[in-house]
Order: sequence, then structure tokens, then C-alpha cells
Amino acid sequence: MSTAGVDSRPAITFRDIKKVFASATGSVTALENVSVDIAHKQFTALVGPSGCGKSTLLHIAAGLDTQYGGSFMSNELDLAHRLGCVFQAPRLLPWLSAAQNVEFVLKERGIPGEKRSVEVRRFLELVGLQGFEDCFPSQLSGGMQQRVSLARALAIDPAVLLMDEPFSALDELTARRLRIELLRLHAAQPHTVLFVTHNVTEAAYLADRVIIMSARPGRIVAEIAVDIPYPREYESVEVAAVARKIIDHLKL
Ligand code: ADP
Repeated sequence: MSTAGVDSRPAITFRDIKKVFASATGSVTALENVSVDIAHKQFTALVGPSGCGKSTLLHIAAGLDTQYGGSFMSNELDLAHRLGCVFQAPRLLPWLSAAQNVEFVLKERGIPGEKRSVEVRRFLELVGLQGFEDCFPSQLSGGMQQRVSLARALAIDPAVLLMDEPFSALDELTARRLRIELLRLHAAQPHTVLFVTHNVTEAAYLADRVIIMSARPGRIVAEIAVDIPYPREYESVEVAAVARKIIDHLKL
């Protein structure tokens, strides 16, 4: 099935996903009838209004939620051990330095000591944190902590990178810098990325493909292939036009 090293099968597939949360005041249908394929090595953005079930879908992909209807499948071998996750909060271990936070996952992968230090330096360098290896999370800015979180996710050697609004808690300038970095990393070594955001410009700027969800219960209402060549300009007319298209679909 592979052509020139590119796997044409989807990396992950959601089929007829339904998710109902039970609560004291009644049940909430968060997702209904969600069927979508996430292509191998593509950058896919999942966009929708707050509360439409984007994080719920991501949690299902991450294996954090197993109580749902329908099916979730992956063509990636050993997906459970090769998932890189970056959330809105960096979720670093506060008692470990930046280097130790990354080293932790390399140890889990069984990378031996000497190679591990080289790899730790390489991943921190990839995200522009050379010189900050020995800093603890509390000594780093929010943007730098998010860089460590990204380095840690990449150190997993992820088959799939799941990102849940990773830049939405950062100031806009830092977020822009990190988006540029993320695209640079993706160009150098493409991963299968599923990126959740409610920011339509961010989705248009980053993704090869944008999947648009309706308000609750979350359903997929449209998909847009974004064929603007990289590198892209955040403020460009082309990105703005795709963002406008996304907004038009959201109004439906
Ligand atoms: P999004 O990521 O698009 O903002 P979520 O996936 O976080 O949306 O949530 C979808 C819907 O499910 C929301 O209405 C939310 O209130 C509800 N929900 C999420 N988690 C729970 C939970 N643990 N218990 C009850 N309702 C929940």
C-alpha cells in the first residue's frame, strides 16, 4: 500500500463515534456520528466552537477515554507507546529540569545513558532551548515550558502527535513564534499531527487539512484541504481566505 515511502492508509480512523457524558443534571451528548480519517504524516486541524467535543475526540485518540460508541482504529503499530501529546498546559514534572523532563521519556524508550544525553540536547536544541537544559519549569516562561513539552512529545518518536490548543494560553507573539517553529519541525520531519484549536486563523496557517465541527453535539460539518504552499504568512490574504471559509462553515 505504500508509495515512495508514504503510507496511503490513514494513520487513524474514527467511525461513528458517539460520546455521552452522564451528569447529576442529565446526560450531555458531546459527540455524535463522528467519522473521519486522519492521514499519515499530514497536519490535520480540528476546529469548532468551544464545547463541541474536540478535546473529547482527542482523548479518545489518546486512549484516555475508552467509554464511547463506535470505533477508533489505528494503522500505526504500537500506537499506545508512540503517542506524543501536547496540551494547553505544559504538564511538566516540576521537580525535574528541562533536560530531565525530556530524558524521562528517552529512558522509558530504553535509550542507553550516553546516547540519551546526546538525544536530550538534540531535542531541546530542536525547540530552541539550548542553554536552558538545567532550568526547572518554574524558572522558564510559559512559552519555554511549552517548548519543553513539545521536545518531550518529539522525544517519544511519536507515530501520532496529538496537540490540544497548545498555544492558546500563551501571549500572541510567543504563540506566533511557536507556530513557526512547529511548521519548521514538521517540514524537516513530518509527523501525523492532529491539532485541536478554536482559532480559525491558526488552523488555516498550520494545517494541510481542516476538519470543522458543529456546536454540541459535535459532528463534522465540513473539511477543507488547504493548498497554500509552506512557508506561509500568518497575515497573508491566502490564510485569511481559508480562515473566512472556515468561519462560513461554522455559521452553518
Ligand atoms: P471542546 O474541546 O470542543 O471545547 P470538550 O470535548 O471539552 O469540548 O467538551 C464537549 C462537551 O462535553 C462540553 O459540553 C463539555 O461540557 C462536556 N464534557 C466534557 N467533559 C465532560 C465530563 N467529564 N463530564 C461531563 N461533561 C463533560
